[in-house]
Amino acid sequence: MTIQWFPGHMAKARRQVVEKLKLIDIVYELVDARIPQSSRNPMIDDIIANKKRILILNKKDMADESITKEWIQYYKEQGIASIAIDSQTGSGLKQIVQLSKELLEKEREKMKAKGVKPRAIRALIVGIPNVGKSTLINRLAGRNIAKTGDRPGITKQQSWIKTGKELELLDTPGILWPKFEDEEVGLKLAATGAIKDEILNLQDVAAYAMRYLIKHYPDRLMDRYQIDNLSNENEIVDLFDHIGKKRGCLSAGGLIDYDKTAEVFIRDVRTLKLGKISFDRPNE
Ligand code: GDP
Repeated sequence: MTIQWFPGHMAKARRQVVEKLKLIDIVYELVDARIPQSSRNPMIDDIIANKKRILILNKKDMADESITKEWIQYYKEQGIASIAIDSQTGSGLKQIVQLSKELLEKEREKMKAKGVKPRAIRALIVGIPNVGKSTLINRLAGRNIAKTGDRPGITKQQSWIKTGKELELLDTPGILWPKFEDEEVGLKLAATGAIKDEILNLQDVAAYAMRYLIKHYPDRLMDRYQIDNLSNENEIVDLFDHIGKKRGCLSAGGLIDYDKTAEVFIRDVRTLKLGKISFDRPNE
Protein backbone atom coordinates (compact mmCIF):
# COMPACT_ATOMS: atom_id res chain seq x y z
CA MET A 1 0.00 0.00 0.00
CA THR A 2 1.28 3.48 -0.76
CA ILE A 3 1.05 6.40 1.51
CA GLN A 4 0.97 9.81 -0.08
CA TRP A 5 3.25 11.93 2.03
CA PHE A 6 2.19 15.54 1.86
CA PRO A 7 3.68 18.14 4.21
CA GLY A 8 0.53 18.02 6.31
CA HIS A 9 0.83 14.26 6.72
CA MET A 10 4.46 14.53 7.70
CA ALA A 11 3.70 17.14 10.33
CA LYS A 12 0.90 14.97 11.69
CA ALA A 13 3.01 11.81 11.69
CA ARG A 14 5.73 13.65 13.53
CA ARG A 15 3.30 15.07 16.08
CA GLN A 16 1.87 11.62 16.74
CA VAL A 17 5.31 10.14 17.37
CA VAL A 18 6.31 13.03 19.64
CA GLU A 19 3.06 12.53 21.63
CA LYS A 20 3.81 8.85 22.09
CA LEU A 21 7.38 9.52 23.20
CA LYS A 22 5.99 10.87 26.47
CA LEU A 23 4.65 7.43 27.29
CA ILE A 24 7.75 5.37 26.68
CA ASP A 25 11.29 4.69 27.89
CA ILE A 26 12.91 3.65 24.64
CA VAL A 27 12.41 3.87 20.87
CA TYR A 28 12.97 0.95 18.55
CA GLU A 29 13.87 2.55 15.26
CA LEU A 30 13.19 -0.09 12.63
CA VAL A 31 15.01 -0.04 9.29
CA ASP A 32 15.51 -2.48 6.43
CA ALA A 33 18.84 -4.29 6.90
CA ARG A 34 19.44 -4.16 3.12
CA ILE A 35 19.33 -0.36 3.21
CA PRO A 36 19.87 0.73 6.82
CA GLN A 37 20.62 4.33 5.88
CA SER A 38 18.23 4.77 2.98
CA SER A 39 15.29 3.39 4.96
CA ARG A 40 15.73 5.83 7.85
CA ASN A 41 13.48 8.81 8.27
CA PRO A 42 15.53 11.94 7.50
CA MET A 43 14.47 13.72 10.70
CA ILE A 44 14.56 10.80 13.09
CA ASP A 45 17.32 12.14 15.37
CA ASP A 46 15.52 15.42 15.70
CA ILE A 47 12.18 13.73 16.36
CA ILE A 48 13.28 11.31 19.04
CA ALA A 49 15.71 13.82 20.57
CA ASN A 50 17.08 12.51 23.87
CA LYS A 51 15.06 9.32 24.13
CA LYS A 52 17.05 6.14 24.38
CA ARG A 53 16.98 4.21 21.14
CA ILE A 54 17.91 0.92 19.56
CA LEU A 55 18.37 0.89 15.81
CA ILE A 56 16.92 -2.41 14.63
CA LEU A 57 18.03 -3.73 11.25
CA ASN A 58 15.08 -5.91 10.29
CA LYS A 59 14.91 -8.43 7.41
CA LYS A 60 18.47 -9.50 8.11
CA ASP A 61 17.58 -12.71 6.28
CA MET A 62 17.56 -10.70 3.03
CA ALA A 63 20.71 -8.64 3.58
CA ASP A 64 24.36 -9.43 2.91
CA GLU A 65 25.55 -10.74 6.27
CA SER A 66 29.06 -9.31 6.08
CA ILE A 67 27.71 -5.84 5.25
CA THR A 68 25.21 -6.05 8.11
CA LYS A 69 28.12 -6.74 10.46
CA GLU A 70 29.91 -3.69 9.09
CA TRP A 71 26.81 -1.59 9.73
CA ILE A 72 26.50 -2.74 13.34
CA GLN A 73 30.13 -1.80 13.88
CA TYR A 74 29.64 1.50 12.07
CA TYR A 75 26.69 2.47 14.26
CA LYS A 76 28.58 1.43 17.37
CA GLU A 77 31.28 3.90 16.41
CA GLN A 78 28.54 6.53 16.01
CA GLY A 79 27.32 5.78 19.53
CA ILE A 80 24.11 4.14 18.31
CA ALA A 81 23.19 0.72 19.67
CA SER A 82 22.03 -1.51 16.84
CA ILE A 83 21.05 -5.11 16.28
CA ALA A 84 19.98 -7.21 13.30
CA ILE A 85 16.84 -9.33 13.40
CA ASP A 86 14.44 -11.32 11.27
CA SER A 87 10.89 -10.58 12.42
CA GLN A 88 9.38 -13.32 10.33
CA THR A 89 11.20 -16.12 12.14
CA GLY A 90 11.91 -14.21 15.34
CA SER A 91 15.67 -14.62 15.00
CA GLY A 92 17.53 -12.03 17.09
CA LEU A 93 14.46 -10.87 19.00
CA LYS A 94 15.81 -11.86 22.41
CA GLN A 95 18.52 -9.25 22.09
CA ILE A 96 15.91 -6.52 22.10
CA VAL A 97 14.93 -6.87 25.77
CA GLN A 98 18.50 -7.57 26.81
CA LEU A 99 19.89 -4.49 25.12
CA SER A 100 16.99 -2.32 26.32
CA LYS A 101 17.79 -3.30 29.89
CA GLU A 102 21.42 -2.44 29.40
CA LEU A 103 20.63 0.95 27.90
CA LEU A 104 18.17 1.82 30.67
CA GLU A 105 20.23 0.41 33.50
CA LYS A 106 21.17 3.75 35.05
CA GLU A 107 17.55 4.93 35.24
CA ARG A 108 16.46 1.62 36.64
CA GLU A 109 19.22 1.64 39.24
CA LYS A 110 18.15 5.13 40.32
CA MET A 111 14.58 3.98 40.78
CA LYS A 112 15.69 0.98 42.76
CA ALA A 113 17.79 3.24 45.01
CA LYS A 114 14.66 5.26 45.71
CA GLY A 115 12.88 2.09 46.67
CA VAL A 116 10.72 2.06 43.54
CA LYS A 117 10.44 -1.33 41.93
CA PRO A 118 11.16 -0.83 38.23
CA ARG A 119 8.16 -1.55 36.02
CA ALA A 120 8.34 -3.20 32.61
CA ILE A 121 10.25 -1.25 29.98
CA ARG A 122 7.89 0.66 27.70
CA ALA A 123 8.80 0.92 24.05
CA LEU A 124 7.57 2.36 20.78
CA ILE A 125 8.44 1.02 17.35
CA VAL A 126 8.93 3.65 14.67
CA GLY A 127 9.94 3.52 11.05
CA ILE A 128 9.00 4.21 7.46
CA PRO A 129 6.34 2.03 5.78
CA ASN A 130 7.24 -1.56 4.91
CA VAL A 131 10.25 -2.04 7.17
CA GLY A 132 8.33 -4.67 9.14
CA LYS A 133 6.90 -2.75 12.11
CA SER A 134 3.64 -4.69 12.25
CA THR A 135 5.40 -8.00 11.72
CA LEU A 136 7.70 -7.26 14.65
CA ILE A 137 4.84 -6.16 16.91
CA ASN A 138 2.93 -9.34 16.11
CA ARG A 139 6.04 -11.43 16.72
CA LEU A 140 6.74 -9.82 20.06
CA ALA A 141 3.10 -10.08 21.05
CA GLY A 142 2.95 -13.71 20.01
CA ARG A 143 -0.33 -13.10 18.22
CA ASN A 144 -1.86 -10.96 15.51
CA ILE A 145 -2.33 -7.48 16.81
CA ALA A 146 -0.97 -4.92 14.44
CA LYS A 147 -2.51 -4.86 11.02
CA THR A 148 0.25 -4.85 8.47
CA GLY A 149 0.06 -1.76 6.36
CA ASP A 150 -1.22 0.63 9.01
CA ARG A 151 -1.67 4.15 7.78
CA PRO A 152 -0.45 7.29 9.47
CA GLY A 153 -3.10 9.65 10.63
CA ILE A 154 -5.61 6.99 11.58
CA THR A 155 -5.88 7.35 15.31
CA LYS A 156 -7.15 4.59 17.44
CA GLN A 157 -7.09 3.80 21.11
CA GLN A 158 -3.53 3.09 22.20
CA SER A 159 -2.90 0.06 24.25
CA TRP A 160 0.06 -1.75 25.69
CA ILE A 161 1.13 -5.16 24.56
CA LYS A 162 2.91 -7.19 27.18
CA THR A 163 5.75 -9.26 25.88
CA GLY A 164 7.11 -11.31 28.73
CA LYS A 165 7.41 -9.63 32.12
CA GLU A 166 9.97 -7.08 31.12
CA LEU A 167 8.70 -5.31 28.05
CA GLU A 168 5.54 -3.48 27.05
CA LEU A 169 5.01 -2.14 23.57
CA LEU A 170 2.60 0.42 22.23
CA ASP A 171 0.39 -1.54 19.86
CA THR A 172 0.43 1.13 17.14
CA PRO A 173 3.83 1.89 15.62
CA GLY A 174 5.00 5.38 14.73
CA ILE A 175 4.91 5.64 10.95
CA LEU A 176 7.35 8.13 9.46
CA TRP A 177 8.08 9.19 5.90
CA PRO A 178 11.08 8.03 3.86
CA LYS A 179 13.79 10.23 2.36
CA PHE A 180 12.56 11.56 -0.95
CA GLU A 181 15.05 14.22 -1.82
CA ASP A 182 17.85 11.92 -2.94
CA GLU A 183 17.31 10.11 -6.24
CA GLU A 184 19.60 7.22 -5.39
CA VAL A 185 17.77 6.64 -2.11
CA GLY A 186 14.52 6.48 -4.09
CA LEU A 187 16.00 3.85 -6.40
CA LYS A 188 17.17 1.78 -3.43
CA LEU A 189 13.77 2.02 -1.76
CA ALA A 190 12.17 0.89 -5.01
CA ALA A 191 14.67 -1.93 -5.65
CA THR A 192 13.94 -3.43 -2.23
CA GLY A 193 10.19 -2.97 -2.63
CA ALA A 194 9.82 -0.35 0.09
CA ILE A 195 7.90 1.97 -2.23
CA LYS A 196 5.37 1.10 -4.84
CA ASP A 197 6.55 0.30 -8.34
CA GLU A 198 4.33 2.98 -9.87
CA ILE A 199 6.34 5.72 -8.17
CA LEU A 200 9.54 5.26 -10.17
CA ASN A 201 10.20 3.98 -13.65
CA LEU A 202 10.91 0.28 -13.28
CA GLN A 203 13.51 0.30 -16.06
CA ASP A 204 15.41 2.96 -14.11
CA VAL A 205 15.16 0.89 -10.96
CA ALA A 206 16.34 -2.24 -12.78
CA ALA A 207 19.21 -0.36 -14.46
CA TYR A 208 20.27 1.00 -11.09
CA ALA A 209 20.19 -2.47 -9.51
CA MET A 210 22.12 -3.93 -12.47
CA ARG A 211 24.85 -1.33 -12.13
CA TYR A 212 25.02 -1.97 -8.41
CA LEU A 213 25.33 -5.70 -8.95
CA ILE A 214 27.97 -5.27 -11.65
CA LYS A 215 29.98 -3.28 -9.13
CA HIS A 216 29.45 -5.38 -6.01
CA TYR A 217 28.18 -8.81 -6.98
CA PRO A 218 29.28 -9.48 -10.60
CA ASP A 219 29.64 -13.24 -10.08
CA ARG A 220 26.05 -13.58 -9.03
CA LEU A 221 24.83 -11.79 -12.15
CA MET A 222 27.05 -13.94 -14.34
CA ASP A 223 25.90 -17.16 -12.66
CA ARG A 224 22.21 -16.39 -12.68
CA TYR A 225 22.00 -15.32 -16.32
CA GLN A 226 24.93 -17.29 -17.73
CA ILE A 227 26.95 -14.24 -18.72
CA ASP A 228 30.54 -14.82 -19.84
CA ASN A 229 31.77 -11.29 -19.80
CA LEU A 230 30.60 -8.20 -17.94
CA SER A 231 33.41 -5.86 -18.80
CA ASN A 232 32.23 -3.77 -21.79
CA GLU A 233 31.21 -0.15 -21.48
CA ASN A 234 27.64 -0.08 -22.75
CA GLU A 235 26.83 -2.99 -20.55
CA ILE A 236 23.41 -1.96 -19.24
CA VAL A 237 21.64 -2.16 -22.62
CA ASP A 238 23.55 -5.35 -23.38
CA LEU A 239 22.55 -6.73 -20.03
CA PHE A 240 18.88 -5.88 -20.61
CA ASP A 241 19.10 -7.62 -24.00
CA HIS A 242 20.84 -10.64 -22.53
CA ILE A 243 18.51 -11.06 -19.55
CA GLY A 244 15.44 -10.34 -21.68
CA LYS A 245 16.47 -13.00 -24.16
CA LYS A 246 17.35 -15.54 -21.48
CA ARG A 247 14.06 -15.00 -19.69
CA GLY A 248 11.89 -14.85 -22.79
CA CYS A 249 10.85 -11.22 -22.34
CA LEU A 250 9.99 -10.58 -25.97
CA SER A 251 7.35 -8.36 -27.53
CA ALA A 252 5.12 -9.38 -30.42
CA GLY A 253 7.72 -8.52 -33.07
CA GLY A 254 10.36 -10.62 -31.34
CA LEU A 255 12.16 -7.60 -29.90
CA ILE A 256 13.22 -7.44 -26.26
CA ASP A 257 10.46 -6.07 -24.05
CA TYR A 258 12.40 -3.85 -21.67
CA ASP A 259 9.52 -3.24 -19.27
CA LYS A 260 8.99 -6.95 -18.88
CA THR A 261 12.74 -7.54 -18.53
CA ALA A 262 12.94 -4.89 -15.80
CA GLU A 263 10.02 -6.51 -13.99
CA VAL A 264 11.53 -9.98 -14.16
CA PHE A 265 14.93 -8.75 -13.05
CA ILE A 266 13.56 -6.75 -10.11
CA ARG A 267 11.50 -9.75 -9.06
CA ASP A 268 14.69 -11.84 -9.09
CA VAL A 269 16.39 -9.26 -6.89
CA ARG A 270 13.53 -9.09 -4.39
CA THR A 271 13.09 -12.84 -4.15
CA LEU A 272 16.79 -13.40 -3.49
CA LYS A 273 17.41 -15.19 -6.81
CA LEU A 274 20.62 -13.19 -6.92
CA GLY A 275 21.39 -13.89 -3.28
CA LYS A 276 21.28 -11.58 -0.30
CA ILE A 277 22.03 -8.07 -1.41
CA SER A 278 22.76 -4.99 0.69
CA PHE A 279 22.25 -1.79 -1.27
CA ASP A 280 23.69 0.49 1.42
CA ARG A 281 27.28 0.19 2.59
CA PRO A 282 29.00 2.17 5.31
CA ASN A 283 31.46 4.72 3.90
CA GLU A 284 29.92 4.74 0.46
P1 GDP B 1 5.25 -2.11 8.22
O1 GDP B 1 4.62 -1.32 7.12
O2 GDP B 1 6.52 -1.47 8.70
O3 GDP B 1 4.32 -2.45 9.34
O4 GDP B 1 5.74 -3.48 7.55
P2 GDP B 1 5.04 -4.94 7.58
O5 GDP B 1 5.13 -5.54 8.95
O6 GDP B 1 3.70 -4.83 6.95
O7 GDP B 1 6.04 -5.75 6.64
C1 GDP B 1 6.23 -5.43 5.28
C2 GDP B 1 6.61 -6.68 4.51
O8 GDP B 1 7.89 -7.15 4.94
C3 GDP B 1 5.64 -7.83 4.75
O9 GDP B 1 5.49 -8.51 3.52
C4 GDP B 1 6.37 -8.72 5.75
O10 GDP B 1 6.01 -10.07 5.64
C5 GDP B 1 7.81 -8.51 5.36
N1 GDP B 1 8.75 -8.69 6.51
C6 GDP B 1 8.68 -8.12 7.72
N2 GDP B 1 9.73 -8.48 8.48
C7 GDP B 1 10.49 -9.31 7.74
C8 GDP B 1 11.73 -10.01 7.96
O11 GDP B 1 12.38 -9.92 9.01
N3 GDP B 1 12.21 -10.74 6.90
C9 GDP B 1 11.56 -10.83 5.71
N4 GDP B 1 12.10 -11.58 4.76
N5 GDP B 1 10.40 -10.18 5.47
C10 GDP B 1 9.87 -9.44 6.46
